[in-house]
Amino acid sequence: MLPEELEPFLKELGQPRFRTKQVFKWLQTGISSFDEMTDLPKNLRTVLEERCLLTGVTVERKLCSQLDGTVKYLYRLHDGAHIESVLMKYEHGYTVCISTQVGCRMGCSFCASGLNGLVRNLTPYEMLSQVIFAGRDNGVRISNVVMMGMGEPLDNFNHSVRFLQLVSHPQGLNIGLRHISLSTSGIVPGIYKLAEYAFPITLSVSLHAPNDGIRKSIMPVAKRWSVAELIQACRDYQKVTTRRISFEYALIEGVNDSEQCAEELARLLKGLLCHVNLIPANPVRENSFQKPDRKKIELFRTRLEKSGMNATIRRTLGADIEASCGQLRRRVEKELQREGNKP
Ligand code: SAH
Ligand code: SF4
Repeated sequence: MLPEELEPFLKELGQPRFRTKQVFKWLQTGISSFDEMTDLPKNLRTVLEERCLLTGVTVERKLCSQLDGTVKYLYRLHDGAHIESVLMKYEHGYTVCISTQVGCRMGCSFCASGLNGLVRNLTPYEMLSQVIFAGRDNGVRISNVVMMGMGEPLDNFNHSVRFLQLVSHPQGLNIGLRHISLSTSGIVPGIYKLAEYAFPITLSVSLHAPNDGIRKSIMPVAKRWSVAELIQACRDYQKVTTRRISFEYALIEGVNDSEQCAEELARLLKGLLCHVNLIPANPVRENSFQKPDRKKIELFRTRLEKSGMNATIRRTLGADIEASCGQLRRRVEKELQREGNKP
């Protein structure tokens, strides 16, 4: 709940106005029960315990990279489902990559998160709680958030919007919307709906192909909306927010890494204020995709730059801890199942 919603709710419970600020503040601290709200009257804590559900995360596994300090969390939710989150350290501060759903229904063929489909949407507090916990566990202030973990944020639209409102709230974590990125596989109506809010966030679009043929072969969402429709939505979105759009392009050997692809991509994005983020594809056990060699990746970038595009190759973080999304959850859930099956 946002403070303006919390206030009438607490009023209904016969509470004075100043309680709103108190309760909202507590909800930013990562508490796991209402009883921890120690400056609230005992009877109010009991009523909250009865009427409300705290859907915070608890750690199932935590992996720390020896290479670059990246921390990967596998969280357990109140119903036993699991999600992944990553804390990354950059020169400008700490970034948390959060999940927005348990699993994902989009079915991109290179991605481990969607292998078993969608289990359920995350609540706004389950998203917020990933940011709170990472900051608290490491004793740091989180300056940036990327909605790039497991799940498709625009397929959980209302909760993603509410998360943005909560995480940027001045009485809450107060993380500026300019420091938040939302990544989508390209749900076109969702992009238009998001434009209505005109949030100054960075929209990140997982393009991965310069044309419908290739895109359809790796992303089922491309069968629903064409590349042309997607790019038009991006152009329209940009008219509203005037913010640079970021295009994610996972380079997969032999699929989308040719020089022709780079040229086609540059033509497609011409005139759009954007940045291309080249991601060497992360191999996933369940598929046979590989990343191209370094030379080919560099060549792809050079081609884009020669055509006037702004492109960078994403630095790999946490390479020693399965930091790419969806893989840790699969492994640990299998382990837990085996343990559970033991007599
Ligand atoms: N569902 C949203 C956000 C989560 S996925 C989306 O698809 O944009 C975050 C990013 O990781 C996306 O750009 C996605 O395409 C990319 N990704 C998924 N699996 C990958 C893999 N095996 N290698 C490289 N990038 C991958
Ligand atoms: Fe879902 Fe994104 Fe993975 Fe595609 S890449 S399956 S949209 S999480």
